[in-house]
Amino acid sequence: MSDLPALLGQFADRALTLLFPPECAVCGREGSFLCRSCEPRLPRLLEPYCDTCAEPGESGVCAWCRAAQPRYENIRAPYRYAGAVRGMVHDLKYSNIRALAPTLGGLLADYLERHPVQVDALAPVPLHPRRERRRGYNQAALLAREVGRRISAPVADEKLLRSRDTPPQITMAGREERRQNIERAFECTESVAGMRVLLIDDVVTTGSTMQACAAPLVAAGASAVFALALAR
Ligand SMILES: [Zn+2]
Ligand SMILES: [Zn+2]
Repeated sequence: MSDLPALLGQFADRALTLLFPPECAVCGREGSFLCRSCEPRLPRLLEPYCDTCAEPGESGVCAWCRAAQPRYENIRAPYRYAGAVRGMVHDLKYSNIRALAPTLGGLLADYLERHPVQVDALAPVPLHPRRERRRGYNQAALLAREVGRRISAPVADEKLLRSRDTPPQITMAGREERRQNIERAFECTESVAGMRVLLIDDVVTTGSTMQACAAPLVAAGASAVFALALAR
């Protein structure tokens, strides 16, 4: 079945690409959002980081995870939220440059090829419907679609619902504040019994959003929840 808004969106993206040819976020060369040869220059998230939440600078499991015992198995992110990665995520999210999604989703898929994880479905972290309407799309869903296509895994857009519209996490200072802000913001709306689910988001800051998504999935019977974001 054809989806007219999506088609119009793709048409608009293509028109924009013609008017404003993509430029590499690292070297500025025209032609793509990121040259292959520039990928190694992106700021990588290097060890040590927490085995569970990927908090940089921690080795083993960090004190926060030992106390909070997150319901996800682990969070992984190939990059740090800095430099060109920060610029690209910002453009995808706030500058309406949806055409970046294949490039960024491709980087996530590359990471999964290097670090495979066996999953039954991908679940993008949902936006509250009101915020998604305002933005016109959910950037996490665009990334998940690209990853799903590459690793041949179904994208389960409908499994999670953001039922509470909380203030943006970016306005919250501390880790505890962020956890409380987002706790119980999500509901699982479809059966996930026995499934291994991979949550996808653009950026992880403290892991509170991933935790808030993982809890209802596990409560609904998911056998394991993993989380992958582009940057931490
Ligand atoms: Zn380049
Ligand atoms: Zn941790």
